[in-house]
Amino acid sequence: MLVGDGMADRPVGELGGRTPLEAAGTPNMDDVVRSGQLGIARMVPPGFPPGSDVAVLSILGYDPGRYYTGRAPLEAAKLGIELSGELVAFRCNLITAGDGRIADYSAGHISSSEAAELISFLDRELGEDRIKFYAGVSYRHICVMEGDHLAGLNCVPPHDVVGQSLEANLPQGRGAEGLVRIMRRSYDLLRDHQVNRARVGRGQNPGNMVWLWGQGKAPALPSFKDCYGVGGGVISAVDLVKGLAKLIGLDPIEVPGATGYYDTNYEAKTDYAVKCLDRESFVLVHVEAPDEASHNGDLEEKIRAIENFDRLVVGPIKERLAREPAFRMLVLPDHPTPIELRTHSGDPVPFALCGHGVERDEAEAFDEQRASGSSLRFDDGYRLMEHFIKGKEC
Ligand SMILES: [Zn+2]
Repeated sequence: MLVGDGMADRPVGELGGRTPLEAAGTPNMDDVVRSGQLGIARMVPPGFPPGSDVAVLSILGYDPGRYYTGRAPLEAAKLGIELSGELVAFRCNLITAGDGRIADYSAGHISSSEAAELISFLDRELGEDRIKFYAGVSYRHICVMEGDHLAGLNCVPPHDVVGQSLEANLPQGRGAEGLVRIMRRSYDLLRDHQVNRARVGRGQNPGNMVWLWGQGKAPALPSFKDCYGVGGGVISAVDLVKGLAKLIGLDPIEVPGATGYYDTNYEAKTDYAVKCLDRESFVLVHVEAPDEASHNGDLEEKIRAIENFDRLVVGPIKERLAREPAFRMLVLPDHPTPIELRTHSGDPVPFALCGHGVERDEAEAFDEQRASGSSLRFDDGYRLMEHFIKGKEC
């Protein structure tokens, strides 16, 4: 199962009304379609926040309506944090604040080592029995607090409000004052930290504030093997995907050079996926780069990321699978990230499925427009996994 995060889009004026997926050269994904089926699936149920957390639950075959508790608990699982009792995990972004606005949701994609220094400093200054900070990857960290009511707060994802006022987007609801206090204090503590002075000196965005969002308590998930009868591994640079893998009993495989950004090591991900298939039945490869390009509004980079995914991941893995007596392959985005919006949407996504026992349909290429006309449609996207793994034969 190969996932190009945020790959799906809407027609773009600059591309003459084509989508990035239509404009990109994707011979391998088109080949999957031509040798199998093109379908469409809604991975974000109506009323849910259109994020990778909800969408990745769906693509792995778990009904978000039943199992979703928030993004942060999945990322906390990756970091080995146990959320017992009244503990609530928050995603804690290192952001760049400036002129009362959210200038950058990622603090210039700050390095994990610089971020770890800032987060451990914050934990020393602001941490206590009921508040703890844990460093993750790049700008993505976790803050754990005690209090069931905090799970119900209204928190805004910072990548949705880049360029907007800080004040207008602070958390709201019962108990929000505590969070707001932490976020304001973090700015006072971080803005003149030596790590940030050095970043500004190099012309990089500083991680001068933390932004708390995506909170929830631990979800209760049955294992993937119990649900679908196979085990395997998950390859991703993104903690929420690795955390979810851990929670459902799949192996979160560490890959050197997997950054979750444009420069991610596609070849290494492919190598590790192939090695995983030598010993396991199932592997999911998740590539974040098209999503990041969309958040940055960078059309050229999005097309390049889709082409890299096609050439360096889909192509070689399909070639490897072709040697198997029986295999199935599913290629899809988790959710669209329309470049015009610069954030996720809950629109249905196209998927391409080929392999053993999969009947061929008429479709010729992998894109949103063709998929939207397909009769192979999953309004409950989580049901696609059953179709993928078991299909008609079961
Ligand atoms: Zn995204």
